[in-house]
Amino acid sequence: MKALLIVDVQNDFCPGGALAAPEGDRVVPVINRLMDAFPLIVASKDWHPKVTVHFDTWPKHCIQGTKGAELHPDLAQGRIGQIVLKGTRDRDEGYSAFESTNIDLERFLKDRGVDSLYISGIATEYCVKESALDAVRKGFSTYVIKDAVEGVRLHAGDSERAFQEMEAAGVKVISSTEVLHAGT
Ligand SMILES: [Zn+2]
Repeated sequence: MKALLIVDVQNDFCPGGALAAPEGDRVVPVINRLMDAFPLIVASKDWHPKVTVHFDTWPKHCIQGTKGAELHPDLAQGRIGQIVLKGTRDRDEGYSAFESTNIDLERFLKDRGVDSLYISGIATEYCVKESALDAVRKGFSTYVIKDAVEGVRLHAGDSERAFQEMEAAGVKVISSTEVLHAGT
Protein backbone atom coordinates (compact mmCIF):
# COMPACT_ATOMS: atom_id res chain seq x y z
CA MET A 1 0.00 0.00 0.00
CA LYS A 2 1.14 3.52 -0.65
CA ALA A 3 0.95 6.63 1.50
CA LEU A 4 1.53 10.32 0.91
CA LEU A 5 3.76 12.21 3.34
CA ILE A 6 3.33 15.99 3.37
CA VAL A 7 6.37 17.56 4.99
CA ASP A 8 6.02 20.87 6.86
CA VAL A 9 3.59 22.80 4.63
CA GLN A 10 3.36 25.40 7.40
CA ASN A 11 2.91 29.16 7.29
CA ASP A 12 6.46 29.88 8.44
CA PHE A 13 7.88 28.02 5.44
CA CYS A 14 5.64 29.86 2.96
CA PRO A 15 5.98 33.43 1.66
CA GLY A 16 5.54 35.88 4.56
CA GLY A 17 6.71 33.29 7.08
CA ALA A 18 9.74 33.34 9.37
CA LEU A 19 11.81 30.89 7.30
CA ALA A 20 10.08 31.02 3.95
CA ALA A 21 10.77 28.99 0.88
CA PRO A 22 10.40 31.74 -1.76
CA GLU A 23 7.69 29.75 -3.56
CA GLY A 24 6.66 27.41 -0.75
CA ASP A 25 2.93 27.91 -1.27
CA ARG A 26 3.27 26.69 -4.87
CA VAL A 27 3.14 23.10 -3.58
CA VAL A 28 -0.30 23.48 -1.99
CA PRO A 29 -2.55 23.03 -5.06
CA VAL A 30 -0.29 20.25 -6.35
CA ILE A 31 -0.55 18.37 -3.05
CA ASN A 32 -4.32 18.90 -2.92
CA ARG A 33 -4.64 17.30 -6.37
CA LEU A 34 -2.45 14.38 -5.33
CA MET A 35 -4.53 13.52 -2.28
CA ASP A 36 -7.14 11.55 -4.26
CA ALA A 37 -4.46 9.08 -5.32
CA PHE A 38 -3.66 8.00 -1.75
CA PRO A 39 -5.63 5.93 0.76
CA LEU A 40 -3.47 7.25 3.60
CA ILE A 41 -2.06 10.75 4.06
CA VAL A 42 0.28 11.83 6.84
CA ALA A 43 1.47 15.41 7.40
CA SER A 44 4.46 16.43 9.47
CA LYS A 45 4.76 19.68 11.37
CA ASP A 46 7.91 21.32 12.62
CA TRP A 47 6.85 21.97 16.22
CA HIS A 48 9.52 23.71 18.21
CA PRO A 49 9.63 24.98 21.79
CA LYS A 50 10.47 28.67 22.26
CA VAL A 51 14.03 27.79 23.28
CA THR A 52 15.90 25.08 21.39
CA VAL A 53 19.40 24.42 20.08
CA HIS A 54 17.76 24.35 16.64
CA PHE A 55 17.49 28.15 16.80
CA ASP A 56 21.27 28.40 17.09
CA THR A 57 21.23 27.45 13.40
CA TRP A 58 17.94 28.92 12.22
CA PRO A 59 15.75 31.97 12.78
CA LYS A 60 12.89 31.21 15.15
CA HIS A 61 10.12 29.39 13.27
CA CYS A 62 7.20 27.01 13.79
CA ILE A 63 6.95 27.60 17.52
CA GLN A 64 4.33 25.35 19.08
CA GLY A 65 0.85 26.84 19.06
CA THR A 66 1.68 29.87 16.88
CA LYS A 67 0.12 30.84 13.56
CA GLY A 68 3.46 30.26 11.87
CA ALA A 69 3.31 26.62 12.91
CA GLU A 70 -0.16 26.07 11.44
CA LEU A 71 -0.52 24.23 8.17
CA HIS A 72 -1.05 26.48 5.15
CA PRO A 73 -4.73 27.52 5.17
CA ASP A 74 -5.35 26.31 1.60
CA LEU A 75 -4.09 22.77 2.24
CA ALA A 76 -7.01 20.30 2.20
CA GLN A 77 -6.53 19.31 5.80
CA GLY A 78 -9.67 17.19 6.06
CA ARG A 79 -7.93 14.49 4.07
CA ILE A 80 -4.96 14.19 6.39
CA GLY A 81 -5.23 11.05 8.50
CA GLN A 82 -2.36 11.69 10.89
CA ILE A 83 -0.25 14.64 11.96
CA VAL A 84 3.28 13.94 13.17
CA LEU A 85 5.19 16.49 15.25
CA LYS A 86 8.97 16.80 15.13
CA GLY A 87 11.64 19.04 16.60
CA THR A 88 9.44 19.15 19.69
CA ARG A 89 12.14 19.17 22.36
CA ASP A 90 14.91 21.62 23.18
CA ARG A 91 17.65 19.44 21.71
CA ASP A 92 15.75 18.08 18.70
CA GLU A 93 16.65 19.35 15.25
CA GLY A 94 13.74 17.36 13.85
CA TYR A 95 14.60 17.49 10.17
CA SER A 96 13.12 14.09 9.35
CA ALA A 97 9.44 13.27 9.83
CA PHE A 98 10.65 9.94 11.24
CA GLU A 99 11.97 11.90 14.26
CA SER A 100 8.36 12.62 15.29
CA THR A 101 7.71 12.38 19.00
CA ASN A 102 3.91 12.10 19.14
CA ILE A 103 3.88 8.78 17.27
CA ASP A 104 6.44 6.33 15.90
CA LEU A 105 5.98 7.07 12.19
CA GLU A 106 7.78 3.97 10.93
CA ARG A 107 5.59 1.69 13.05
CA PHE A 108 2.44 3.65 12.17
CA LEU A 109 3.06 3.16 8.45
CA LYS A 110 4.20 -0.47 8.64
CA ASP A 111 1.26 -1.42 10.90
CA ARG A 112 -1.03 -0.17 8.11
CA GLY A 113 0.76 -2.13 5.41
CA VAL A 114 2.46 0.85 3.80
CA ASP A 115 5.46 -0.20 1.72
CA SER A 116 5.68 2.79 -0.65
CA LEU A 117 6.04 6.33 0.63
CA TYR A 118 5.52 9.36 -1.61
CA ILE A 119 6.98 12.57 -0.24
CA SER A 120 5.91 16.16 -0.85
CA GLY A 121 6.36 19.47 0.96
CA ILE A 122 9.03 21.88 2.19
CA ALA A 123 11.98 22.21 2.18
CA THR A 124 13.60 20.07 -0.47
CA GLU A 125 17.14 20.48 0.90
CA TYR A 126 16.34 19.85 4.57
CA CYS A 127 13.23 18.18 5.91
CA VAL A 128 12.09 16.62 2.62
CA LYS A 129 15.56 15.23 1.96
CA GLU A 130 16.10 13.89 5.47
CA SER A 131 12.63 12.32 5.54
CA ALA A 132 13.28 10.64 2.18
CA LEU A 133 16.71 9.33 3.22
CA ASP A 134 15.22 7.95 6.45
CA ALA A 135 12.37 6.31 4.52
CA VAL A 136 14.87 4.47 2.32
CA ARG A 137 16.87 3.36 5.38
CA LYS A 138 13.69 2.02 6.94
CA GLY A 139 12.94 -0.09 3.88
CA PHE A 140 10.19 1.88 2.14
CA SER A 141 10.07 2.26 -1.62
CA THR A 142 10.53 6.00 -1.55
CA TYR A 143 9.43 8.59 -4.08
CA VAL A 144 9.89 12.35 -4.01
CA ILE A 145 7.36 14.21 -6.12
CA LYS A 146 9.48 16.90 -7.74
CA ASP A 147 6.76 19.46 -8.48
CA ALA A 148 5.22 18.97 -5.01
CA VAL A 149 8.36 20.05 -3.14
CA GLU A 150 10.02 23.46 -2.78
CA GLY A 151 13.40 24.57 -1.52
CA VAL A 152 14.42 27.42 0.78
CA ARG A 153 17.25 28.13 -1.69
CA LEU A 154 19.79 29.54 0.73
CA HIS A 155 22.51 28.80 -1.83
CA ALA A 156 22.25 28.35 -5.58
CA GLY A 157 22.03 24.70 -6.57
CA ASP A 158 21.02 23.38 -3.13
CA SER A 159 17.80 21.82 -4.38
CA GLU A 160 19.54 20.18 -7.34
CA ARG A 161 22.19 18.72 -5.02
CA ALA A 162 19.46 17.45 -2.69
CA PHE A 163 17.75 15.64 -5.57
CA GLN A 164 21.10 14.09 -6.58
CA GLU A 165 21.78 12.97 -3.02
CA MET A 166 18.34 11.45 -2.68
CA GLU A 167 18.58 9.63 -6.01
CA ALA A 168 22.03 8.28 -5.10
CA ALA A 169 20.48 6.83 -1.93
CA GLY A 170 17.74 5.05 -3.89
CA VAL A 171 14.94 7.60 -3.81
CA LYS A 172 12.94 7.79 -7.04
CA VAL A 173 12.15 11.29 -8.27
CA ILE A 174 8.85 11.51 -10.14
CA SER A 175 6.25 14.11 -11.14
CA SER A 176 2.72 14.57 -9.81
CA THR A 177 1.43 13.76 -13.30
CA GLU A 178 3.16 10.38 -13.17
CA VAL A 179 1.62 9.71 -9.76
CA LEU A 180 -1.88 10.68 -10.89
CA HIS A 181 -1.68 8.59 -14.06
CA ALA A 182 -0.17 5.53 -12.47
CA GLY A 183 -3.56 4.11 -11.44
CA THR A 184 -3.85 1.93 -8.33
ZN1 LIG B 1 12.74 23.66 12.33
